[in-house]
Amino acid sequence: MPLSRSPGSSAPGLRHVVTRSLSTEETTMADHRKLGRELGLFDTDPLMGAGLPYWLPEGAVLRHTLEEYIREAERQAGYRHVYSPVLGKRELYEISGHWAHYSEDMFPPMELGGEEVVLRPSMCPHHALIYRSRAHSYRELPLRMAELGGMYRSELSGVLGGLTRVRAIQLNDAHIFCTEEQAAEEALAALELIRRAYRALGIAPSRYRLSLPGEGGKYAARPGMWRRAAAMLAEVLDGAGVPYEKGEGEAAFYGPKIDVQVADSAGREATLSTVQIDFHQPERFGLHYIGPDGAKRRPVMVHRSVIGSVERAVAQLIEVHGGAFPAWLAPVQVVALPVSDAELPCAERFVRRCLDQGLRAEPAGPERGSLGARIRAARLVPYQVVIGAREAAGDLVALRLRDGRRPAALPAAEAVRRIAGVVAERGARLWDGEAG
Ligand SMILES: [Zn+2]
Repeated sequence: MPLSRSPGSSAPGLRHVVTRSLSTEETTMADHRKLGRELGLFDTDPLMGAGLPYWLPEGAVLRHTLEEYIREAERQAGYRHVYSPVLGKRELYEISGHWAHYSEDMFPPMELGGEEVVLRPSMCPHHALIYRSRAHSYRELPLRMAELGGMYRSELSGVLGGLTRVRAIQLNDAHIFCTEEQAAEEALAALELIRRAYRALGIAPSRYRLSLPGEGGKYAARPGMWRRAAAMLAEVLDGAGVPYEKGEGEAAFYGPKIDVQVADSAGREATLSTVQIDFHQPERFGLHYIGPDGAKRRPVMVHRSVIGSVERAVAQLIEVHGGAFPAWLAPVQVVALPVSDAELPCAERFVRRCLDQGLRAEPAGPERGSLGARIRAARLVPYQVVIGAREAAGDLVALRLRDGRRPAALPAAEAVRRIAGVVAERGARLWDGEAG
């Protein structure tokens, strides 16, 4: 699992450190907790419990879109998805090493019919068992197994709030089972996937960190294994051409990792994405594949998360964009604004055309106030489409982009086609030509 426990930190991979004074850009970032409630994205209820946020409809759309994006990116990169349960027997985590190295971050076991089951603190053990359930030839490697699934962490209630300190986590996780010769290349491809996703999401890493073990007994033994894995990850970072710093004492208990760090609106840094090379768990689970000579060989596990937890990714998106999400992620992409009741049927037809093209659109008619008030209310919506008597008569629309640009009035069908085209790019731009 990508989020690792660091000795002396309050939570795995989530140690908040004010690394430097705030830049102007950062001070304009929004607190995701405040904005998330204002925008109706998520909330919490004491009866559900601290650190257990729920997602409101607009937040659920944002999350769904993000999850669709990552699954599609993984499919294209040769990953295959699985589902595995969020519970496992205590014994499973004893084998993986979590029980010995990580149990203070785990929920207490539940007694069930003479057995003890635990809410899982990571997906690696489940994926190792899925790998082990079938025989594998070297020809099947690298085998890339991905899951967007739940995991749990027993955060103390005092530090919970918003989407960044949560007890129930939806993790974008994957494990690549490969030969040792393939591991660096797979880790590099995972890092490229991370960098591509950040460009699409409009978020930037604050820095890259090569997280190494520190002093103390938190780490699985075998110094040679650590040295080999750390050298491979350093090679990956050099190959990607990204500057990085070393972080002693920040490794996972089973191996070193590349951490992609992001900063929040208060300048606090946290790990969003990770890439790890692990020799430990394949050995603990007795994993093997059949080599070209027919002999059993031990695979390496590359653990990687492209966007980290969905919760933290959405928190970062809210903070970075202040609610004005890239068009492809916006909960509502198009709002149709009839000037008067007379154009309402025309606005509804326009919305229907947008929905048919897969866009998220809704009408906002005069019952919601003056045109100016409705435009202000829709200021975070990427495309505001005004339809007056002239436009209705000619099947035209007057487009207002969120950034203030106003392209010339367009035939309705062309407006829908061009909006859908820009949204399909999953990029930062709002329009495909000159406007204004
Ligand atoms: Zn893992």
